[in-house]
Amino acid sequence: MKLPNIVKETRERVIARDKRTCQYCGKDKLYKQQLNLDHIHPESEGGLFTESNLLVACKQCNHRKGKKPIGSYILHRLAQIERERETLLALQTKTPNIC
Ligand SMILES: [Zn+2]
Repeated sequence: MKLPNIVKETRERVIARDKRTCQYCGKDKLYKQQLNLDHIHPESEGGLFTESNLLVACKQCNHRKGKKPIGSYILHRLAQIERERETLLALQTKTPNIC
């Protein structure tokens, strides 16, 4: 499918600005299917396809975020990271020191 020039130009500017790096997890060198543009303010709620409302996201982060507003997605991810950290700490304290 051929994109209209304004869409293509906006897409290229956002990709150049974000240096092909996911703005959520930092994964870099994203190309083709791995590189998505995410709407900061969701398209379903009137968010526009403009540079100020778009960022580069990897496919995984874009899928995880879905249509959540960026603020609630970030809080959700922080809570997830905290749970993972607590699980790791619990595992470390249960592991006997074999040195
Ligand atoms: Zn990512």
